[in-house]
Amino acid sequence: MLNLYDTATRTVRPLAMRDPGVVSVYVCGPTVYGPPHIGHGRSTLMYDILRRYLESTGLTVRHVSNITDIEDKIIDRAAREGRPWQEITAENEALWWQAMDAMGVLRPTDVPHATDYVTEMVTLIADLIERDAAYVTDDGIYMSVASVADYGLLTHQRLEDMLTGGGDREVFGAENKRAAADFALWKFTKPKADGSSEPSWPSPWGDGRPGWHSECVVMSLALLGEHFDLHTGGQDLKFPHHENERAQAVALGKGFANHWMHHAFVVDADGEKMSKSLGNFTTLLDLVDTMDPRSYRLLLLQSHYRSPVSVNTDTVGAAERALGGLDTFARRATDAGVASVPGDPSIVDAFRARMDDDLDTANAMALVFDAARRGNAAVDAGDLALAATLATTVRELCAAVGLVLKTADDVPADVLARASALDQARAAKDFALADALRAELQADGWLVETTKTGTTVRR
Ligand SMILES: [Zn+2]
Repeated sequence: MLNLYDTATRTVRPLAMRDPGVVSVYVCGPTVYGPPHIGHGRSTLMYDILRRYLESTGLTVRHVSNITDIEDKIIDRAAREGRPWQEITAENEALWWQAMDAMGVLRPTDVPHATDYVTEMVTLIADLIERDAAYVTDDGIYMSVASVADYGLLTHQRLEDMLTGGGDREVFGAENKRAAADFALWKFTKPKADGSSEPSWPSPWGDGRPGWHSECVVMSLALLGEHFDLHTGGQDLKFPHHENERAQAVALGKGFANHWMHHAFVVDADGEKMSKSLGNFTTLLDLVDTMDPRSYRLLLLQSHYRSPVSVNTDTVGAAERALGGLDTFARRATDAGVASVPGDPSIVDAFRARMDDDLDTANAMALVFDAARRGNAAVDAGDLALAATLATTVRELCAAVGLVLKTADDVPADVLARASALDQARAAKDFALADALRAELQADGWLVETTKTGTTVRR
């Protein structure tokens, strides 16, 4: 049973399941106005680790994560570049999945797009107005947070205290609001001086677009239903985003998330929050292009999700070297010809005990590294039975958190194609060409072995 820190109760408590055997999770997804940044990587990797771990224990995970494809930043960029906003969102969503695939992040079971749920958001807003929890003004429709008795549950602050701190543009700024903490549910379309139009949808109160906080409450309830198990995101989403999502559900008398999980920021070396550019990495794509993409996952596994993590070439590089050690053990065990045997149940139990204690991934991974050390010693000593057990244990525990170990060097497709051309030349008895192809591969640093069954290449 996974015990997880809950932001609402401020305790580590069991993650209860509404439906036995099925964990329902909502993860706030990206606003697709630019390429994914390093902080996005932490968020998606963290929840991928959580999901894979739960699945490795036999549970089913319904993992809903949205794409916010309508927002001021998207509209601003479209206007600045003189392009349709749909082009901006399509382009950046493609970059998003490119980075996620490179990092081995499983696609969510559901990926709702905000623009597909506008009708449902209009219905939600009408219900809130009906219940006197929202009101119409000249520039939009606002939620009255005074209508929600326990507003501030996630921030653990009274409304008055929240208003004197912070400075979020969603909280402050609008002139027509009755109270400073009230937030926009619907923004009316503004006429543009240059005659261009911004995206808008019809509503009984006037054309406009939904506010961000209404998207997630509608999509999570539509796909997961009331009282779903877990709502997650970065700690910056606690307030106002999650507080405001929850306020709408509460005002409608609906049961919302039963457990709230928030992870800490990615920071630079000085401990400052940085999400846009870090060290040598400008975007997440830079990181996955220049380093082994698995190393960011390991770096996070070696930290606690509620602690800030420095992400730069030094820290990712250290994780990359540690990963190399695990790969080396897996490869040595394979090369030594260890048998396929079950893993060591006592190590698996100890690993799960650490993970079930608020995802203590750092100590869980320490057990994996220890098993790899002992496995290497077993290979050295010729104890292949022990090496086999430990190799399975290491491989399975790594897989349980989404790390796939390499037991052989990856051979690029073009090298495989040249090896196959070599075989074809031999079959056609064109030995001069076969020799030339072999020499070329060897010059590129490949070991080329040709047997009766064909040619293999390796480093
Ligand atoms: Zn959200």
